[in-house]
Amino acid sequence: MKIHEYQAKEIFTRYGIPVPKNKMVESAEAIDGALREIGGDTFVVKAQIHAGGRGKAGGVRVAQGASEAARIAREMLGAKLVTRQSGPQGRVVRKISLDAAVAIDREYYLAVTLDRAKARGVILSSQAGGMDIEEVAHTQPEKINKTYFDLVFGLASYQAREVALGLGKDPAFVKAVTQIVQKLTEIFVRLDASLVEINPLVLTRDGAVTAIDAKIDFEDNGLYRHPEVGALRDPLEEDPREVEAKKYNLNYVGLDGSVGCMVNGAGLAMATMDVIMLAGGMPANFLDVGGGAKVDQVKAAFKIILSDERVKSILVNIFGGIMKCDVVADGIIQAARDVQLRVPLVVRLEGTNVEKGKELLRQSGIRITPAEGLSQAASLAVQLAGKS
Ligand code: GDP
Ligand code: MN
Repeated sequence: MKIHEYQAKEIFTRYGIPVPKNKMVESAEAIDGALREIGGDTFVVKAQIHAGGRGKAGGVRVAQGASEAARIAREMLGAKLVTRQSGPQGRVVRKISLDAAVAIDREYYLAVTLDRAKARGVILSSQAGGMDIEEVAHTQPEKINKTYFDLVFGLASYQAREVALGLGKDPAFVKAVTQIVQKLTEIFVRLDASLVEINPLVLTRDGAVTAIDAKIDFEDNGLYRHPEVGALRDPLEEDPREVEAKKYNLNYVGLDGSVGCMVNGAGLAMATMDVIMLAGGMPANFLDVGGGAKVDQVKAAFKIILSDERVKSILVNIFGGIMKCDVVADGIIQAARDVQLRVPLVVRLEGTNVEKGKELLRQSGIRITPAEGLSQAASLAVQLAGKS
């Protein structure tokens, strides 16, 4: 799960990592009050969206004086922002953060994440922080230092100091960065994060070290241990299809292709996506309706697929074991009655109660293209997606 920069900065503050004074606003009326509260005469107006690369896309703007800051803030609120991480359709900026600007001397990169292959935590640090860090990682990987640590024992203090010494030698700087590295690691481990990142961590012209950007991604499977973190979820920033699927406990992942799929079993769902691609198509989603899905779940799943504009045909591939074919048929029929079936529907049913399921579908009067076997089903669905 991703959260906004302003939320990550709240967590930083709680753990003692310095950040500039800032205030999130989501309405034009709140702007002037927020700027007064922050004070000072230089501000940074920052779009709060769940996508990086804002700086290069005009989503981070430095303003001289409160009236210029207010003008930029009003302009940014409600506008669409396209960054290299947002996808071509961009994101509507519903929240912005107003920050006290800092005079930057140097920018550093600091992050904690997981090295899955080594099964260890890793601290990434670099003197080449800032907006070009991806480029640096690509062309000059030697400029990024890696320090591994044990997830159970945590980071030793000498390691935190080593990371800091890799970035600078000034004693006050080393002391400040050592503390930040320790706290960053503490956040990572305690909150079950998958990434905690500061880019850039800056040395200001008056010698202070502060995090002017903040990013935390959380491991979804750990969220049940941290309800206060789960409460930070912003559904408006998430794929609306996935938000809806979550309400029904469906195992759904939105993709960009045109063949909507409904499958039982994660393995079969993966295989179905592979076969769709083999047939020259692209799946619009991954969906495992599970073994024990009820009619209302199947119905909800079907509605989510149908509400997706990308979907040009639907492939239902059910191998009934625990899942019964007639339950699936019933869900499809109910959903198709509620929502107009605007695309061709290819159905491949096998297994428990298959005859009953097929009979229900026949009697329903819904236009279905029946298929025998997975490869036939997939090529039919791909063909039909191309036509409609
Ligand atoms: P990102 O592009 O989405 O990662 O957004 P950041 O929050 O990292 O901001 C992008 C860039 O804006 C930073 O690398 C800084 O160079 C610049 N910036 C952000 N805040 C300030 C500030 O307070 N003062 C100055 N001078 N520049 C800033
Ligand atoms: Mn950044």
